[in-house]
Amino acid sequence: LGAGQLGRMLALAGYPLGLKFRFVDPTAGSPAGQVAPQTVADYSDTGALGELEACDVVTFEFENVPDYAADRLAATTQVFPPPAALRVSQDRLVEKTCLTSLGFATPRFEPVHDEASLRQAVDRLGVPSVLKTRRFGYDGKGQCVLKQASDLPRALALVGAGPCILEEFVAFEREVSLIAVRARDGSVASYPLIENRHEGGILRRSTVPSMTGPVVEREAAASVQRLLEHLDYVGVLTVEFFEVGGQLLANEFAPRVHNSGHLTIEAAGTSQFENHLRAIAGLPLGSTHCPGPAAMLNLIGTLPDKTAVLRVPGTHYHDYGKEVRPGRKVGHITITADTHAELETRVAEVSALL
Ligand code: AMP
Repeated sequence: LGAGQLGRMLALAGYPLGLKFRFVDPTAGSPAGQVAPQTVADYSDTGALGELEACDVVTFEFENVPDYAADRLAATTQVFPPPAALRVSQDRLVEKTCLTSLGFATPRFEPVHDEASLRQAVDRLGVPSVLKTRRFGYDGKGQCVLKQASDLPRALALVGAGPCILEEFVAFEREVSLIAVRARDGSVASYPLIENRHEGGILRRSTVPSMTGPVVEREAAASVQRLLEHLDYVGVLTVEFFEVGGQLLANEFAPRVHNSGHLTIEAAGTSQFENHLRAIAGLPLGSTHCPGPAAMLNLIGTLPDKTAVLRVPGTHYHDYGKEVRPGRKVGHITITADTHAELETRVAEVSALL
């Protein structure tokens, strides 16, 4: 379900394993639809869902797939990750409550549903704080930062759109993500922590390894394993964290392969895409080890000159086959190197071309 770039990279990783794909997505000519058959239909379209029932296993590449569609499919075929995990991740309040119950530290948060509860939450958490819609937010959409009283009207307009959550604003040192995978037999593997830089709510750069220390990293991997086991999860799952004062605060999780993990295609023994497919197809997991440093730069709104980029050693160019539009993720470049210094030199060379 979903035929965007994540679906496309899943298909490209699955063909060497002899897997075949069918995608459902309402947008014709989607990135995955260019490499595999695509049914252009809404996710609630019973005819399209019926076609998927003929598949051995169904998965999804984004978390806003209606849970009733996943439930319906799960009644007749295998759906991984389990629809229950999708449901938890679709509601920020349920998600953060789940994470805290499993021992994750998170930013402090309060539920908000109207003006009175918003004022109460601001009294408790203070400013700056971040108001987010509980459902359907992505890439910084559906959220606003409250810095002072004059921000309230803007925040109230957001509350009017539905239930929200107010979070303390975290002055983090860095953002990191932990991508882990759980197989059908319960075995778990996790990739090294990946460091992420966002601008305007959109991921710009991911780097491996992160600057986070090994003790904190091991704790994060253990927490994510608990989450995978709690959800009886099968497939790849990503937890995003803020790192502050040597501690990781969980922001959210994505029940799918993740933008920050694109660099695993070239930097890891087995990519997140292949490992997701191995997990849901009941195959053994592959190595998540990343032997050297690597960085991924998202291409947003425009594609740079391929020849110039590929002249820089260690570069790998990914064009998603999308129409170029401002603010749209249209591709990414992964850069590998033997040393950190070499990586930064190469990143600077590529950045100058963007
Ligand atoms: P999200 O949609 O929750 O992933 O938020 C998008 C981005 O907004 C994050 O990657 C952060 O850069 C920023 N952000 C979200 N929540 C907070 C917070 N509580 N404190 C500081 N920055 C935040």
